[in-house]
Amino acid sequence: MPHAHQLSQRLLIFAAAVTTVLTVSAVTIVVTAGTSSAANTCSAGYVGLTYDDGPTASTSTLLNTLRANGARATMFNIGQKVQQNPSAAASQISAGMWVGNHSWTHPHLTQMSQAEMQSELSQTQNAIRSATGITPRLFRPPYGETNATLKSVEAALGLTEIIWDVDSQDWNGASTAAIVQAAGRLTSGQVILMHDGIQNTINAIPQIMASLNSRNLCPGAISPTTGRAVAPGGNPPPTTAPPTTSAGGCTATMVPGTVFGDRYNTTVNVTGSNSWIVTVTITPPQRISSTWSASVSWDASGNVMTARPNGSGNSFGFTTMFNGNTSARPTVGCQVG
Ligand SMILES: [Zn+2]
Repeated sequence: MPHAHQLSQRLLIFAAAVTTVLTVSAVTIVVTAGTSSAANTCSAGYVGLTYDDGPTASTSTLLNTLRANGARATMFNIGQKVQQNPSAAASQISAGMWVGNHSWTHPHLTQMSQAEMQSELSQTQNAIRSATGITPRLFRPPYGETNATLKSVEAALGLTEIIWDVDSQDWNGASTAAIVQAAGRLTSGQVILMHDGIQNTINAIPQIMASLNSRNLCPGAISPTTGRAVAPGGNPPPTTAPPTTSAGGCTATMVPGTVFGDRYNTTVNVTGSNSWIVTVTITPPQRISSTWSASVSWDASGNVMTARPNGSGNSFGFTTMFNGNTSARPTVGCQVG
């Protein structure tokens, strides 16, 4: 059955040894596809790409690969992993992904009491809400195992149960080619099961996107109403660059902080120099409302903030008001002053 964690871990170790070869072949295929495919208008509909069991140590690689290929996906997170690594869960949102609930400990829920089910699901709702500011509407039961009691617990929490139409078998050691082939079976509205933390799955993303593009399919959101993949709604992917910028002798890394109802915090960590100049560019109508641990100035538009050390070290922070745009996130650049 899906989600054999220990097997996945062993696969991950194995896959790490062959990463270089697989990456090279994936890049070659992307170039080929890019020269032969026309613009995709999504005229054939939308499919749901889903990644379970995160966040993991490779979540950032997964997110970067999805973004580099223009893909959005739904991440069914394990609650206790979110609690252990809330910034990784927040980064899923800032990368334009959707988040769902995949239980607290990944148990066989159908062997549990209703109270235990309730605890598994509600703790996870709280952890994801705390980490991302978003309360999930989607729930995927571990192993796809469900029953009437579990369905009643889901319903009480406002969760829609999402299984899958296509199983990529990535949890079972499927090759990158086999994962791509599985995604090739997706039709409009369908959902495919994949996992965070598996290198073959990450390596499959460019070819999955090339395949979808060639069939005029696009990755979409999963509707909590119908459980089917639909066009993304009013939550467009951020058009920002990756959060780490390394240029003129220093590196600035953005770390997502607490998300409140109307604003969110960001921390920037600078390495490589104690005499840095970091530029932070925001997307209006978002607005930076306060800063700490840096000396800041602004350009005429008010959208570009320049930060310099103020004697507080090489980390600083700021608060940004959403002003109606909850998806955009800043970009940062660093140079030595
Ligand atoms: Zn799972």
